[in-house]
Amino acid sequence: AEMREARIKKTKTVCTYCGVGCSFDIWTKGRKVLKVEPQMEAPANQISTCVKGKFGWDFVNSSDRLLQPMIRKGDTFVPVTWDEALSYTATRLSEIKEKHGPDAIGYISSSKCTNEENYLMQKFARAVMGTNNIDNCSRYCQAPATEGLRKTMGLGGDTGGIEDLAKAELVIIVGANPAESHPVLSTRIRRAHKKYGQKLIVADIRKNDMAKRADLLLHPNPGSDLVWLSAVTKYIIDQGWHAREFLDTRVEGFDEYAKSLEQYTLAYAEEVTGIPQADLIRAAEMIRDAKSTCICWAMGVTQHMGGSDTSTAICNLLLVTGNAGRPGTGAYPLRGHNNVQGAGDFGCSPPYLPGYERVDDETVRSKWEQAWGVALPTTPGLDNHRMVEAIHEGELKAMYLFGEDMALVDSNANHVQSAFEKLEFFVVQDVFFSKTCEFADVILPASPSLEKEGTFTNTERRIQRLNRALEPLCESRPDWEIICDLANRLGANWNYQHPGEILEEACSHTELMKGVTWERLEGYNSLQWPVYEDGTDTPVLYLEEFALPGGKARLVPVGWTHPFEMAEEFDLHLNNGRMLEHFHEGNLTYRVPGIKEKVPTAYVEISPELARERGIVTGALVRLVSPYGKVRLRAAVTDRVQGKELYLPMNTPKDQEAVNYLTSSYHDAITHTPAYKEISVRMEVLEPR
Ligand code: SF4
Repeated sequence: AEMREARIKKTKTVCTYCGVGCSFDIWTKGRKVLKVEPQMEAPANQISTCVKGKFGWDFVNSSDRLLQPMIRKGDTFVPVTWDEALSYTATRLSEIKEKHGPDAIGYISSSKCTNEENYLMQKFARAVMGTNNIDNCSRYCQAPATEGLRKTMGLGGDTGGIEDLAKAELVIIVGANPAESHPVLSTRIRRAHKKYGQKLIVADIRKNDMAKRADLLLHPNPGSDLVWLSAVTKYIIDQGWHAREFLDTRVEGFDEYAKSLEQYTLAYAEEVTGIPQADLIRAAEMIRDAKSTCICWAMGVTQHMGGSDTSTAICNLLLVTGNAGRPGTGAYPLRGHNNVQGAGDFGCSPPYLPGYERVDDETVRSKWEQAWGVALPTTPGLDNHRMVEAIHEGELKAMYLFGEDMALVDSNANHVQSAFEKLEFFVVQDVFFSKTCEFADVILPASPSLEKEGTFTNTERRIQRLNRALEPLCESRPDWEIICDLANRLGANWNYQHPGEILEEACSHTELMKGVTWERLEGYNSLQWPVYEDGTDTPVLYLEEFALPGGKARLVPVGWTHPFEMAEEFDLHLNNGRMLEHFHEGNLTYRVPGIKEKVPTAYVEISPELARERGIVTGALVRLVSPYGKVRLRAAVTDRVQGKELYLPMNTPKDQEAVNYLTSSYHDAITHTPAYKEISVRMEVLEPR
């Protein structure tokens, strides 16, 4: 009856999936999602969406939504009231803090949740519980890119917007697959390439959809990007093609940097990367001939032991060629989740308060101490990688995590899960019973984006509002409400009535977002940070000066970290990443019947050569084994991969197929981002078919 009476309602929302940040009207009737209707005024996507944004919403009514709080009793979970769950959680957290100190508890926030929820989680960790042990999943993906950008240009965000990618004369894509991971953004590049003569260079070890269209395709050996990037930069300087005036007036450190490139000759680069010298020269010439160049990169670059240094090398190349601080140029680390940018911007990071203001800077800290009315912890806390190690070492006793299936998405899943087993107390807040929930002591049911209000920040630093299309299902609640209730039970006196109040509190104290208000984000309005007090925002960064002391960018010498080598028996390199139809660990998209029907499961891509050698065809059942674990799944034979290269999407419906049972704990030295892409396996054929 309720369904019959319900009226059709149109609500503007922002996509819950990738970092492109498509916004659209969503039509609902009762709890039924009728359709998604994109609008011309949507700033990132206009009338485009991809399959996930258009059809990926039925998970909101999935029969396995978490509907009420639960507490572990032995091996089972018993439903309890919110009051019981929150009181129990508050008591246990207080006891552990009392006994072991505030730093014995770690907090993980979510790049799928809103800016306001992320802000509250870090405020909860710092101001209520007294620790800087707060992190989010950008540690798993883009922290190295942020590091490279901050060192060379000053701010940890894409330097321009999707519009600039469409305007550039040359786009270079390194270790990214926007056709599947950022579909609407890739459409803009494809259109510019096809219709407006934009040139495209793709450097990737897999022949993905963008690689097939490239004017120049570079196929480097795994983990060797820094070498070819540096060799191209050196060649440009040697030929005198560098942007002398730009370097003289806007950049520091040229001489030292040029000198540091000495070893990166074309011959050396060919030897290490396998890319023919002629192709490296061609790349340099294409950069020389283009008036504007953008470089996009993602996890093919960042998820290596030298991920931060390679990101820095990309920024160096842009600076040497004068491709920064102008429309149509710049650096574009493509953010994965819809709000991975915002989770970092709003302070969910061990050394940073909101706006990337450091916790160990006394002036910054006293500003936030005044704002929040409490003394704050002074030293950076543990990141999520260090938290896992600290649990194993017995230092970290408890965790509160929301919207993150860390048991499967962190690398070396067996190592992470055995850490979770050691926790004295573990609170997991999510929409579904994830793998991580299996290790919880308390499970708190949260609402997905359609059931809440707030803001997300996309890969262009663009802050956009989402509105509530559906009421929270049963007893599930928006994350910000749960965090508030828990904080108040632990002695905070938070009285937020609406996410708009949280946003304005956060932004009023944050230099980077001073002028962001709820009203300024009405409807399809959006703001790209930095946003000044008068509401002026910044579509393109660094037009006048870079955000480093003195206003100049800085060239930073970097060295190449050789990918770690494995025993000979692990003879196949295992690349991994996304696929178009599914998202991340698959908790949402495998619960959308329309999408699941189309792509029901994950599979491992195998080259035709290797398939012939091992006597298998598409559909064969194989087991992949690494020193850290094993998975069993079907094979798909395709020329997207070559030789001894395998590709396994990280999106799988069965947890035992997850790629992270194979990956290691090796990581980028600077950011601790796992080297997900540096793994080799051996393959056992179980059923050749
Ligand atoms: Fe959503 Fe990304 Fe697809 Fe846009 S491109 S609809 S943001 S998944």
